[in-house]
This record gives sequence, C-alpha cells and structure tokens, in this order.
Amino acid sequence: MRGMLQLNKNNPYRFLNPIAWLVILLIVGSVVLPTSSVVASQSDVDRLEQQSAQLEAEIKEKEAAAADARAEADALSGEVGQLDNDISLTEARISETATKISDVESSISQTNEEIKVQQASLEEQERNQDETLRVFYETVTDELLFVLVGSNSISEVIDHNEYLESLEGQIEGAIAEIEKLKRELQEKKTGLEQEETELANLKAQHEAYKIGLVDEKARKDALLSDAVATQKSFEDEVAEAEALNDKVEAELRSVRSKLTQKSGPGVIKASDQGTSAVGFQWPTNYRYISTYFGGSTPFQPGGGHGGLDLVNSAGTPIYAAADGTVTAVTSMTYNGSYYAYGNYIVVGHNARWSSLYAHLQAFAVSAGQEVHRGDVIGYMGSTGWSTGPHLHFEIWEYSARVNPLGLLP
Ligand SMILES: [Zn+2]
Repeated sequence: MRGMLQLNKNNPYRFLNPIAWLVILLIVGSVVLPTSSVVASQSDVDRLEQQSAQLEAEIKEKEAAAADARAEADALSGEVGQLDNDISLTEARISETATKISDVESSISQTNEEIKVQQASLEEQERNQDETLRVFYETVTDELLFVLVGSNSISEVIDHNEYLESLEGQIEGAIAEIEKLKRELQEKKTGLEQEETELANLKAQHEAYKIGLVDEKARKDALLSDAVATQKSFEDEVAEAEALNDKVEAELRSVRSKLTQKSGPGVIKASDQGTSAVGFQWPTNYRYISTYFGGSTPFQPGGGHGGLDLVNSAGTPIYAAADGTVTAVTSMTYNGSYYAYGNYIVVGHNARWSSLYAHLQAFAVSAGQEVHRGDVIGYMGSTGWSTGPHLHFEIWEYSARVNPLGLLP
C-alpha cells in the first residue's frame, strides 16, 4: 500500500484527476457539440430517425405540391403561347384588312377621277350639242328666208337640214354613251364604297377580337406568374427541408457510428472467438491490444505489465471470462481520486483460476454474485492509471498473474 502511494506521488500523471477530466470533457463537449451527447444512445437514434422520417414525408408532400404547380404553370404557359399566336394572327388579319381598305380607297378615288373625266367629256358634248342646235336653227331661219325670197333651191335647204339632223343624232349618241359610262362608274364607286364599309366593319371586328385576346392573355399571364411563384416557394421549402434532413442524417450517422464502435468494423467480437479449452472467453469486444502481458506502460515504464490492455470505446460491455463468483467489486481511490486499477472486479472461477477487470466506467454486478461465462459484469472506462478507455484484464493462477494470451481462445 505504501509502495502504491509512493508510485502515485512520482507518477507524472498524478494531477490528472479522472473526474476533473470528465468534467472538462463534458463542458468542452457541450460547447463544441451541442447536438451530440457525449454518450450516444439508442433513444438518440430513435429521435433522429423519427425527425428524418418526418422531414422526408414533408419533402415528398412539398415536392408533389411543387410538381402540381409546375404542371399548372406548363399548362398556362401553353395557353399563353396559343393566345400569343392568336393575337399575331389577328394582327395579321387587321393589317391585311387595312391594306384592302386602302386599295379600295384608291380604287374609289381613281373611279372619282374617271367620273370627273366622263363628266367633263359629257359637258363638252352638251356644249357641242347646244352649238349644233344654235347653228341648226340659225341656218333653218336663214334658209327659210332664202326660200321665201327665192334665192336658194328648196332641195339645198333639205340637204343641209339632213346633215344637221345627222350631226345632232351623232352628238346625242355620244352623250348617251358618256352617260352610260358615267353611270357605270358611279355604280362601281357605290360598290367600292360598300366594300370599304364591309372591310371597315371586318377590321373593327378583328380589333375587338384582339382586345379580348389581349385581356385573356393578361389574365393567364397573372395566373402563370402565380403558379410559377407557388412552384418556386414549394421548391424552396423542399430545399430547406432537404438541407435540414441532411443535417439530421449526418447526426444520425455520427450517433450510429458511436453506437456501433462497440461492435462495428474493426472490432474483434469476444463471441466470435469462442471458448478456450481451459474455459475462458475474451472478456470484451476490442479493437486492438495496446499493451501485452509483461510490456511497458506510462505507469510502468520498466515493463512487467500484469495483464492485457484491450482498447475500445467507453461503455463497451465487459463479460465474465468464465463461470464463477464475483469476489470483489471495488474502487481504488485516494483523497477522492482514482488511482491504479480504478474501478475493478475480481471473479473467482475455482480454486486455481481467477480473473480481474480494471479501469471500469461502471459495474453491472455486486460482490458475491454468481456469474456465467459471457455475462455482462461492467462497462469499459478509464478510471485509475489509464490514458484512455480500455480494459486491463488479468488472469491469476493460484496467487500469480499469468499471460492471458496463453489461456484465451
Ligand atoms: Zn493494463
């Protein structure tokens, strides 16, 4: 006992009070990892899985809503495109009709010019007619005088009359022809004016139709921008939920990996290795052996290590290596601090063999209890002279430590 205390005093790690370290770790851990507890538990996994499932359901729902909005936006976009086509077509019809109107208008003004020409020609013919008649009557009067005074023959008078009558007939024919032409032109003009009125009506109809199309397009454009905004809003919510779910899943992976470190990849499971002929199994699932029997440790730099150091995570179950009775469940402390074995258990198997399990985090049995090989008797920790979670495992034959490797499967 005195030797132990002496050793404790000289040991460079004597100020590393394990409880103080645990307190520091808990404080640091809670600052750096606010969402991850220091010790992962199945309830964390359950909580995170539930959270993730809720987020996934939310994502599905919002994705469906976004798809609905997208389908609506696509349909509206198609309708707006169709309306744009109809508007273009109507505009083409309006411009086509305007061209026709302008053509008809120039035909009307051309016809007006032609009517004017015919009118002038008519007036000229009428003037000719007047002149002819005047000449005719003057001549007739003169000739009648000549006839009465007997200077001209009556036959001459008759010839002259006949000539004048035929001239008069020609002029009347020309006038009738011109009047006919003029009438035809006026009929043509009336027809053109009627056509112009019809075209103007048609243009007004196209314009009214276009106003309706433009109104309808404005309405559909508003609906389309609503649908696009709705789609974007749902897509934003999906992205947000996905980002949150990524975080939850990352935490889930982290918690799961903490849980599976005890039996996950790289861990040698005690149960996989069976039982040795002597009746021992490995006392824990471990990742590696840090110090062999007889080796050196920071606490025993000169060698002479009394057991096997099996490394794994804190909280890894410790099994009874063989059937027996728990003979000690105790702690080595001095002034409130652990030293040497820290928390440890001794199991007596029979008169010859016993085993010792040190640096435990917690106990699962009490002294005097009967245990069977493979029963959980405690949990891995780092109490006492230890620099990290591991099991210090010893096998005693009568009253001496022996190399456990020679007795394990
Ligand atoms: Zn050890």
